[in-house]
Amino acid sequence: MSWIENILKDNNPETMEELITRADQVRRKFRGEAVYLRGLIEFTNYCQRNCYYCGLRRDNNAINRYRLSAKEIIDLALQANQMGFQSLALQSGENPDRKTVDFLVRVVSEIRELTTRDSSIGLGITLSVGELSYADYKRLYEAGGHRYLLRIETTDPQLFASIHPPSQTLEKRIECLKALKDIGYQVGTGIMVGLPGQTPDHLLADLQFFVDMDVDMIGMGPYIPHPQTPMGREPSASQVDPWVHTLKVMALTRILMPDINMVASTALQSLRPDGLKWGLRAGANVVMPILTPIKYREDYRLYADKKYKSFPQLKEEIEEAGFRLGLWQWGDSLRWAKRQQQSEDNKVAGHLQAEEAM
Ligand code: SAM
Ligand code: SF4
Repeated sequence: MSWIENILKDNNPETMEELITRADQVRRKFRGEAVYLRGLIEFTNYCQRNCYYCGLRRDNNAINRYRLSAKEIIDLALQANQMGFQSLALQSGENPDRKTVDFLVRVVSEIRELTTRDSSIGLGITLSVGELSYADYKRLYEAGGHRYLLRIETTDPQLFASIHPPSQTLEKRIECLKALKDIGYQVGTGIMVGLPGQTPDHLLADLQFFVDMDVDMIGMGPYIPHPQTPMGREPSASQVDPWVHTLKVMALTRILMPDINMVASTALQSLRPDGLKWGLRAGANVVMPILTPIKYREDYRLYADKKYKSFPQLKEEIEEAGFRLGLWQWGDSLRWAKRQQQSEDNKVAGHLQAEEAM
């Protein structure tokens, strides 16, 4: 991976331009020009965790906590479907208690039932609700969730420990990602870029992790401090630039894993007004327009100055950047689809061998 190391450590703007051009070519060749939408519903900002970087952390008393009702979520889902969204992302703080998981299982299965009644494929559902038990991940999968985003945040044990309380471990997160894959989800992970103490070598190890875990989706973005968090109150330097290195790692990910799905994150769009255009050029092919009702948005602030763009604005920017909206399609990860096909082929081959042996 020495060429990657060189790119991560090189400050020459031409290197960056060449890298992004290459990533754009790879993305167009393997994933085309479509940008798939995941309508994002941030259904509760309650969180039982205390990550040192996030505005939703349990000990942040400066936000109003909210919880959308099942009816509110389902109504939003149906409206989104009518607008041409074929996938939703349900995201929240981490609440692994029985009541919350039961609620989510019910919401997911109702959305699936209501949107498949006319025998269409219905709304695809991505979940992003943190670390749960194997059994709960399985219940949500059986209810109809089929993609799951759980960022590893960083793969460096020391760096991970410096941004989380001791009760949250890197080992547990890896175990969750393996469980999700074992159950059959399309699995997405990702990192924050620009963390205090983060170096290009950490990013290199993160890229290696994405490849080794053979993930289907990536959602990464810059770390942006939040003033009501321990890390935001005591900012300290990073050896990596949140903007430049997010784009570099995205572009390298696209080149190393041409057939995955990759999100242009809201954080990248919040960092600079042209973040979406650059994210798409660096290889992203998924956007998550925020559908959370306006009255709750102020309270789902993970970091300072989180920006919201309307659907027409996103559409305009996507088209201006030379891409097109992938409406009425799930737009699944091609990598995942290939793996599914391979496992079907293996099953057929196994049956044939067994028959021949008889
Ligand atoms: N609670 C779930 C979890 O942690 O996986 C899902 C929601 S959580 C808000 C989604 C992601 O937000 C986290 O994985 C983290 O990378 C990102 N995030 C939180 N605080 C952030 C910050 N200050 N800057 C950038 N991203 C942040
Ligand atoms: Fe909670 Fe997720 Fe924020 Fe951590 S990153 S405090 S788990 S919402």
